[in-house]
Amino acid sequence: MSRREDVAVVGGGIVGLAHAWSAAARGLSVVVFERGPRAEMASVRNFGMVWPIGQPAGERYETAMRSRARWLELRDAGVWVEECGAVHVVRRPDELQVIEEFAAVAPGLGVACELVRPADAARRFPALNPDGLLGVLHSPTECVVDPRQALAVLPEFLARKFGVEFRYRTAVTDVQMPFVRTAAGDEWRVDRCLVCSGADFETLFPREFAASGLTRCKLQMMATGPQPGGWKLGPHVAGGLTLAHYAAFEVCESLPALKERFAAEMPEHVKLGIHVMASQNHLGEVVIGDSHEYDDAISPFDSRRTDDLILDYLKRLVRLPDPTIHRRWHGVYAKHPTHPQFAAEPQPGCHLLASPGGAGMTLAFGLAEAWWG
Ligand SMILES: Cc1cc2nc3c(=O)[nH]c(=O)nc-3n(C[C@H](O)[C@H](O)[C@H](O)COP(=O)(O)OP(=O)(O)OC[C@H]3O[C@@H](n4cnc5c(N)ncnc54)[C@H](O)[C@@H]3O)c2cc1C
Repeated sequence: MSRREDVAVVGGGIVGLAHAWSAAARGLSVVVFERGPRAEMASVRNFGMVWPIGQPAGERYETAMRSRARWLELRDAGVWVEECGAVHVVRRPDELQVIEEFAAVAPGLGVACELVRPADAARRFPALNPDGLLGVLHSPTECVVDPRQALAVLPEFLARKFGVEFRYRTAVTDVQMPFVRTAAGDEWRVDRCLVCSGADFETLFPREFAASGLTRCKLQMMATGPQPGGWKLGPHVAGGLTLAHYAAFEVCESLPALKERFAAEMPEHVKLGIHVMASQNHLGEVVIGDSHEYDDAISPFDSRRTDDLILDYLKRLVRLPDPTIHRRWHGVYAKHPTHPQFAAEPQPGCHLLASPGGAGMTLAFGLAEAWWG
């Protein structure tokens, strides 16, 4: 006999949890199926950066800001969230030109940020490496969460506050609306099924995913141990390479020339998709990344050379009291070439909601709220 719920969510990552929250807050009964014993994929492998500054101004930036507000609400539920802000640290004149241009247009775009000159930057952000520093783009909007802590607390909160049911170690292997079936042969009857399966394109609706244009992207990551003496990184740190990575900076006329210089001077970084960022979690560990390998280039094995390039670049941006790497890992997310999030409805009431690429922690809550209307 099948059980009955209003909504089934397949996938216990941040996208699935965001939809479970939005649905449950509207009074719907929700069951979440997660094949792992807990969320173990992209949603716990990331920096924990809530990063509005990377989103293009307008709807995407606003979506990120709505997500940010939801993260702050979760403090009451015991999720660790710090309003740390972010700095883009520049060391070359063409990088300075991009952040100057961006800082000039940002107020008109509704984006909060300011240009900080080197003398002030050294005083305000003492973790930065002052050698060769030409300027800093500071934005106050970014937050940091510890993804592992957040993805552990959020299901407890949803279960406690809204009675959301979680089925771990349960893979959904078949959806024929209104029925959702698990690998163990259990069956649920639901009004809606939301497939939030991250980078798993093969288990459910493989044909739809194959035709979607989605690709997989692998990122290499590292973390130091807790920094000694309560040392603080302060804001998230990014460098010049990051200006070429996020769509936000495409409003800058000087960006194409900067990208050309990177291609000529740093072809290995460009080939490996390296841009360097660092965040600090509540344990004092500094989380460092990353690189980007797409689809056929993805190797199950991590490259030491890639890690070394990342760490070498990071040294130019910050001075860590203890740079010893304690952990290394990689994560994979789904990415659509044009849409922030791919969505499709292969059967009436069944929706595929892919990962919002490298910005799931930044966008998931806002996207889910907009989806539920
Ligand atoms: C290394 C790395 C760093 C990143 N850094 C950031 C960052 O700092 N800030 C930011 O905003 N974003 C960041 N991102 C992006 C962000 O992590 C992702 O966009 C987001 O986690 C995707 O969430 P998701 O729920 O779609 O996918 P996932 O976290 O992969 O979750 C999907 C879940 O579905 C489950 N599942 C799949 N199929 C089934 C099935 N048939 N039955 C049951 N369960 C199933 C899987 O087990 C998995 O747990 C980063 C990503 C990576 C990889």
